[in-house]
Amino acid sequence: MVRVGLQISATLENIDKLETSHPDYPFFVKLTCTNCGDKSDKWHDITESERVDRTGQTRNAAGSNFVMKCKMCGRENSIDIVEKSNVAYTADDAGHFKTIVVFDCRGVEPVEFSPRAGWRVSSSENGQSFEDVDLSDDDWVDYDQKNNNSVGVYEFASKFIKLKK
Ligand code: ZN
Repeated sequence: MVRVGLQISATLENIDKLETSHPDYPFFVKLTCTNCGDKSDKWHDITESERVDRTGQTRNAAGSNFVMKCKMCGRENSIDIVEKSNVAYTADDAGHFKTIVVFDCRGVEPVEFSPRAGWRVSSSENGQSFEDVDLSDDDWVDYDQKNNNSVGVYEFASKFIKLKK
């Protein structure tokens, strides 16, 4: 089993905190099979609050957050989000990469991340909060009516790193 961390980096304008709406946030990732090296072209979503069993049916408490049979080598692979590994990206982190979630990977590893919608933003100085923020364009701008200033997430970037056990 390998632990892989998702790191994000962004520039924040008048924002205290950027976080996913975990445990219901779907992490869309592209995967590579560590057995045969095949990389999926498709985006797969991994959600902490959802579990699937070997047949791919949802709502099985004994299952994993993600299960996939590799098309190339036929091996069955799975991924789980490490409980309580979700953390917010804060104003102090801006401009630097920070690990915001950790995946337990068995036979398959995420290699690419697509942020999409479902982020939460808390503005600086007790300003407005925003739900379901969409980072599909790697940038997001809105207006904080409480503080009368603009808020924004810019230059969103992400990468995966292997963590030491
Ligand atoms: Zn494979």
